[in-house]
Amino acid sequence: MSPHPDLLLAGDFEQVEVVADPGCGMQAVLAIHDTRMGPAFGGIRRRTYGSLADATRDVLQLASAMTWKCAMAGLPAGGGKLVLLDAPGLDRAAAYRRIGSFVESLGGRFSTGPDVGTTDADLREVCSRTRHCADPGAGGPGDLGRATALGVFHALLATVRHAGIELDRATVLVQGLGTVGAPLARMCREAGARLLLTDLDAARAGALAAQLEARVVDPVEALDTPCEVFAPCALGGVIDATVAARLPVRAVCGAANNLLASGDVGRVLHDRGIPVAPDFVANAGALVVGCLHQLQGIQVGDDRLAAIGATVDSVLGESARTGTPPGEVALARARSRVAALPHRPYVGTK
Ligand code: NAD
Repeated sequence: MSPHPDLLLAGDFEQVEVVADPGCGMQAVLAIHDTRMGPAFGGIRRRTYGSLADATRDVLQLASAMTWKCAMAGLPAGGGKLVLLDAPGLDRAAAYRRIGSFVESLGGRFSTGPDVGTTDADLREVCSRTRHCADPGAGGPGDLGRATALGVFHALLATVRHAGIELDRATVLVQGLGTVGAPLARMCREAGARLLLTDLDAARAGALAAQLEARVVDPVEALDTPCEVFAPCALGGVIDATVAARLPVRAVCGAANNLLASGDVGRVLHDRGIPVAPDFVANAGALVVGCLHQLQGIQVGDDRLAAIGATVDSVLGESARTGTPPGEVALARARSRVAALPHRPYVGTK
């Protein structure tokens, strides 16, 4: 289980910058957290924020989490993020082009790609102005949702092993059947698991359930539905202390970022003997594929994504030996990897 976002935030930032263009109604905030391991990677999140301060707080948390994610994935990259404040009157295409020009001006210190609210069409606008963006087209890294799903699937295999479960005898409840949840459900089905599927979009859940011989669960009942494995692939903050105390499952592994609603939740689940794959380890597949394509021009093979399972296995092993919740084990490892490096930020090639 991932630690609470406030824990992820710890550390200094190399660059925090507001980028504004009143001409297209754009306000955006870039945060580059740490580039000691290599150039910063992080997608563009577009959403409505209450204020610029709220957006800044979000981008700081997201950027630092990317550093720890890169460290745990063994990538030659650091953490960054860009948030675009959605607002009435925003000329979306122009704003993404402006972001592209800004990213290009950073000379490779920051590479970007998709995140919540940013579509392939938006990314094409960014890519029209910079080389440092994951191209959603033919020349790009490929299907990033599938990459995340495959990494989560390997993490899930490791997690169920630690729970003493065999996947082909287990029932997996997948919450959220979007870019990641749908292919993950398919992979679990192909591995012989029984499936429970839930999504706010009932038609989406029904269609996938028909294909995969699954049962649909009402979203409001999902957290009270007994099963062996809970795979959260919707929003973060799903498990708070109350839910953690009663969640009727034996293992948790999914793609949702910041699964924990508060810092004490990982301990509650750990004390109940429920292994939880730290989200920022399990959901790194798209980052691995996007980052290595951008930096080395390679199409990453599925074996590289299987390594995510080995990392989760090792984290859960240490967690069991030391009595420390897995999210804390993973965060400590990530921090020590970064702290061992000399503080020499990546300069880029401007
Ligand atoms: P998505 O928007 O494609 O799909 C999310 C799905 O969850 C949608 O179908 C939505 O209807 C459903 N949903 C939302 N709230 C729900 C609820 N309360 N109950 C049931 N269903 C609900 O998103 P995605 O790209 O598949 O990402 C899923 C999660 O994984 C997010 O938390 C995201 O931050 C994280 N993640 C995604 C990637 C990636 O490669 N896409 C990488 C890392 C992490």
